[in-house]
Amino acid sequence: MENMTMKQTNIETSRIGLGTWAIGGFQWGGTDEQEAQKTIHAALDKGIKLIDTAPGYGFGKAEEIIGKALHSSSLNRSEITLSSKTGLNWNEKDGLFRDSTKAFIHQDIERTLRNLQTDYVDVYHVHWPDTLTPFYETAEALNYLYKEGKIRAIGLSNFSTEQMDIFREAAPIHAIQVPHNLFERNSENELLPYAEEKELTAFLYSSLTRGLLSGNITKDSQFSEGDIRRDTDPKFQSPRFEQYLKAVKELDELAQDRFNKNVLELALRWNLQQPGSTISLWGARHPEQLAPLDNLWDFFIDDETMRDIDEILMRTVKTPIGIDFMAPPNKQDL
Ligand code: NAP
Repeated sequence: MENMTMKQTNIETSRIGLGTWAIGGFQWGGTDEQEAQKTIHAALDKGIKLIDTAPGYGFGKAEEIIGKALHSSSLNRSEITLSSKTGLNWNEKDGLFRDSTKAFIHQDIERTLRNLQTDYVDVYHVHWPDTLTPFYETAEALNYLYKEGKIRAIGLSNFSTEQMDIFREAAPIHAIQVPHNLFERNSENELLPYAEEKELTAFLYSSLTRGLLSGNITKDSQFSEGDIRRDTDPKFQSPRFEQYLKAVKELDELAQDRFNKNVLELALRWNLQQPGSTISLWGARHPEQLAPLDNLWDFFIDDETMRDIDEILMRTVKTPIGIDFMAPPNKQDL
């Protein structure tokens, strides 16, 4: 495992983080709590020190499961980096919606601490920008928690560079969290260069494009009811789905030919080689899914192979699409 110290902080952590969106169950067709806890223990056993979560993942369920798993772990709290989020509220009628008001953040952090069974969060991100709340109000609320020691670093997730500039007038930023994987690369244009320039750690999310880059998904894969890949995520809908599957097949062949690896290992290695100070978030909910972790450290993707990867993507994915489907609504749009 490669470890790192997050820029502008003394947080030492692993360059791979366990993503727990699926562990929360909501939008992933449900969760198996025992299996999820085993996955968290397997991740820690393998040297993953960072767990990324959010109250929005199963309306607190993912955080609760993590809290229980850590409680039964032999590791000390200081050996684990917990990354969670605020800024998404919910109710029964509307589901999740953006809310980064000071009042909500102050109540949200307390619930997160209770669920995670801890008294501080290492990295606390605003999950999605709430444009109905002044950014300085959100920034001041986060800065207050930072100064109080309830959070050790501040992150902004899914913010534009202009929004981050405004936020920074009232609070420090230590990290950003952005979608970044072989199929979702918009962050390369502005966000990752911004992170490098401002010395921020970039948490790269959906490293496997929600499993597409695992190599295990085929045209006949069946997703459970409630799994976003069944009818919401546009990459999994025909005819685009076939384009992405063709890309996966060709990337897998390239990985086998050049490195004796598979597409999942290539995708994670590619993420780890992105410029700047980066962390790759890998979602898993079964312990055995983390087995390939041991295969990421003995190869390097050279420049020529990087170009060949780009050529495969250009040729196979004719109508690429981003992650707009994930964006939760503003309160006024409900
Ligand atoms: P991901 O890492 O791209 O893919 C996760 C899925 O890939 C798993 O749930 C699993 O699918 C499949 N998978 C993983 N390892 C596998 C293996 N060895 N073999 C076969 N399949 C495998 O997806 P993600 O969960 O979207 O992203 C990772 C993390 O990033 C999230 O959990 C979350 O922490 C963070 N994230 C943040 C935001 C944000 O707005 N800030 C948005 C999205 C994600 P099955 O469960 O079906 O087996």
